[in-house]
Formats: sequence, C-alpha cells, structure tokens
Amino acid sequence: MLRIFEPCYLCGKPCDPTRFRDHVPPKGVFPKGLRQDLITIPCCEKCNHANHKSDEFFRLFVSLGVHRSPTAQASWKQVVESTLAEKRLPREIARLTSKMTPFQLPDGQLAYKSYQKTRPINLQLIRITKGILRREYPDLNYFGYEWFARHFDQLKMHATIQHLVSLAKFEFVERGEGSWRCFHGMAVDKPDMGMWVHIFHDSQAFIVMHQIRDPKHRRKTSIEWFHSLL
Ligand SMILES: [Zn+2]
Repeated sequence: MLRIFEPCYLCGKPCDPTRFRDHVPPKGVFPKGLRQDLITIPCCEKCNHANHKSDEFFRLFVSLGVHRSPTAQASWKQVVESTLAEKRLPREIARLTSKMTPFQLPDGQLAYKSYQKTRPINLQLIRITKGILRREYPDLNYFGYEWFARHFDQLKMHATIQHLVSLAKFEFVERGEGSWRCFHGMAVDKPDMGMWVHIFHDSQAFIVMHQIRDPKHRRKTSIEWFHSLL
C-alpha cells in the first residue's frame, strides 16, 4: 500500500499522518466526556513527544481562571488533579501564579492580572494556532511568519472580546461544549496576517497574531496593528 506523507504542522518534515497526530488544542484541556470530535493534525513523532511537558502546564493554567465554567471545574478535577502528583500540584500553581499579579474580587476569589511573559504558555497558543491554520488554510505556508501571543486580563476579558467581535466578521470554531472557543479573522489585503482569540472554559482568553516576517519594520507594523485592535 502506498503511504501518503504529509508535512508536520510544526516542523514541516514529512510524516505519516496515520501514525502521529497532535490534538489541537491538547486533549487534556477537555473534560473526559467531551472529547468525541477533537481536532487532530498530522505531526511528526519528535514534535508530538516534545510537547507533553508543556501540555501539562498549559491545561493547568487554562483551568485556573476565575469564575470557572463547569467544563473548567470538570477538567480541573479529572485531568489536572489526577495527573499531577499531590505534592507537585501546589508547586506548579505557585510557579504559575508567581508570575502574575494577584488581586481579590468582591466575592473573595483571587484573580490574576494578565500573564504576558511566560514563554511556555505563548508557545502553546502559537502551536494551537498553527494547527488550526493548517486545518483551515492548508495552502498557507506559515513557516515564515512571526508570532505574537498575549493573555487577556481576566477582568477585562469579556469586554475586550465583545469589542473585538464587533470589529469584523470572524470565523468561529468550538469544541467540548465551550471548553475551547476560538474566533479568528484574516486581513483581506494581507492574507498572511491574522488574529486569533482562544477562550478556554469561558474564563481564560488569549490573543495570537501572525504576519509575514519583515526584517525592515517588523515590530512597528505588528504592534501598531495590535493596538489598533484593542
Ligand atoms: Zn515535526
């Protein structure tokens, strides 16, 4: 039988899509009863294995939001608590929250200001976006893109999302009864430029943007564009 190889969505090397596929977003983000129609993308063995550690960190983070939805609570109980050894869990939470600014909500819950500087989270979001890009726009070659990712301030998250949604017509995709929602738009005149918003459990949201790498004025154009959106 002839084997059909497809490029790995992360490194571009040919891989056998029947052997390794990556869940995008990672499976662990979804509670166990809500994994029937998750998205998978061809991925090489090396890239597939490389992500296990950061997957764990990521699912912990996205189920840590304030005012967690039922899917976040289920995910936390089934996935996070059962996966991380009890002693490690407080340590991981401390590691995460040490990089965020905490403040107390009127109802006593602890919330965290945006979480911008943490590379593992940003890399996961970029990876998820690449997977969805591959699926939605299989002809786009995103390997020459530059990427930006940022966490939304939890208190402003809903207002920011409403504002963004009012700006343009976006494409929506959702899995796991709201465990993950995503909307995105691609610039009409620059098909390499896109904006993606990933919302996990209706309590943690992130924006990811990409554009073609332009060594002359990369930072300037991206940042101006970003600020014009928010
Ligand atoms: Zn790969």
